[in-house]
Amino acid sequence: MIDTHSHIYSEEFDQDRLEIIKAAREVGVKKILLPNVDASSIERMHQTESEFSEMCTAMMGVHPTSIKEDYKKELEIVKNWLDQRSYIAVGEIGIDLYWDKTFVKEQMEAFEQQIIWAKELDLPIVIHCRDAFSEVFEVVERQLDEKLKGVFHSFTGDINDAKRIVEYGSFMMGINGVVTFKNTHLRDVLKEVPLNKLVLETDAPYLAPVPYRGKRNQPAYIEKVAHTLSQVYDMPLDLIIAHTSDNASHIFNI
Ligand SMILES: [Zn+2]
Repeated sequence: MIDTHSHIYSEEFDQDRLEIIKAAREVGVKKILLPNVDASSIERMHQTESEFSEMCTAMMGVHPTSIKEDYKKELEIVKNWLDQRSYIAVGEIGIDLYWDKTFVKEQMEAFEQQIIWAKELDLPIVIHCRDAFSEVFEVVERQLDEKLKGVFHSFTGDINDAKRIVEYGSFMMGINGVVTFKNTHLRDVLKEVPLNKLVLETDAPYLAPVPYRGKRNQPAYIEKVAHTLSQVYDMPLDLIIAHTSDNASHIFNI
């Protein structure tokens, strides 16, 4: 399995990161992709990547909730890193209007700028979208061409959102512990989404799947996400794992 979205570089894992990586390996996780948040997370993320280089690969980008008055500075730091070394993706980037709508204009501008850089570097983007599908779709569709590809991370949209993403052709949806939650609509939505559009993720330390809901999430729990998908698609677990891993390898060029 490939955990396509995991913040295991964050301080929640400072006491036991090695054990967390070992536990992931034991359940069959082969790769963990690390999404950046902002300037303050870059050093820890690079550090975790170099310490566990056979498992962990970093992305570069600035998260929408970190787009504030100083967003131009944040963007400049991202651009400098993108020019300096290679990354697996530009992420996580996007629009979040759940926490704060003050900087919606700046969020859209920063999102679009980072999409342009991703296309220049031929990298996929990893999109964070919360209460902002119409704004995200607007920006993505302005930039949509044969170069643009990526993942709608932590997808929890409705069937129309899913269909729109499927129509893009070069986008996938990242599915995490939310799919295991008791009263989610996501399982019903996924019944109408082809499996070749899905990748697995955890979003650790957030969104732990049932039966760990509310606890610290970790890459090893990705098994629970795959297990729920095997029920949704009525398909053996090993096939769900094979397909979603292929999808992740394809979109991230692993
Ligand atoms: Zn994230």
